[in-house]
Amino acid sequence: MSAANGSAYSWPARDAKAEDVLRWALGEFRDKIAITTSFQATGMVILDMAACLTGGNVKVFSLDTGRLHNETYELIEQVRRRYGIQVELLHPDGGELSRMTSLYGPNLFYDDISRRRLCCEIRKVRPLNRKLATLDAWIVGLRRSQGAARGDVETVTLDHDHGGIVKVSPLAHWTEDEVWDYIKRNDVPTHKLYDMGYPSIGCAPCTRPTKPGESPRAGRWWWESDADKECGIHISPDGGVRSSFDVLLEEVLPATPRAR
Ligand code: SF4
Repeated sequence: MSAANGSAYSWPARDAKAEDVLRWALGEFRDKIAITTSFQATGMVILDMAACLTGGNVKVFSLDTGRLHNETYELIEQVRRRYGIQVELLHPDGGELSRMTSLYGPNLFYDDISRRRLCCEIRKVRPLNRKLATLDAWIVGLRRSQGAARGDVETVTLDHDHGGIVKVSPLAHWTEDEVWDYIKRNDVPTHKLYDMGYPSIGCAPCTRPTKPGESPRAGRWWWESDADKECGIHISPDGGVRSSFDVLLEEVLPATPRAR
């Protein structure tokens, strides 16, 4: 059965119970499905549910960018001990990382938006794409109440950005309060940085605590103003226009085709 043909599956209803969605997905795709998480609150709820359903025999992977908070590694150790889950840590390609940091320095993300995007591409996007190319389905912690950009998150959908594999969001219809209620009721371990004012936790150099009244997004890449969000353009000697990001990426991947 091809994952690219979503109609071949009998999908759960849009607002089906999260446990039922997980049970269906893990049974349908077996060793070709994995949970991905950065160990934030929604991810921990999904891990807890999956561990209850499988006894810990579930595939879980996470992107180890090499720049994570130490508290994230501590939580990974807790997950391993409590649930018996072997978390697969995906690392950037060593050659790509070495070339990027040699050319632009270890803290290139502070220079400009193009270099920040390049860092995310090498440390996150490309390792994720390599992993997803081996799967028929993946499970994520997206929720509709996480903001307008996620307002139309489907519980199950085809992921056309990743070869048409199936993307499962068991908590799509959950609110923030429901997430934390579940965590309290089930004594689920959580990231220590929540108690230090971080509403959203990513790489250490690129996240900070927020002040009361600030949006959660204010803690991510805080040095970038909204006006900076667009990637710059690059004019080549023949007058061609390309994004600065594309130029940087080609410099880091001189012998590698752009297609991922
Ligand atoms: Fe690099 Fe920051 Fe992106 Fe992490 S969040 S990959 S350190 S730019």
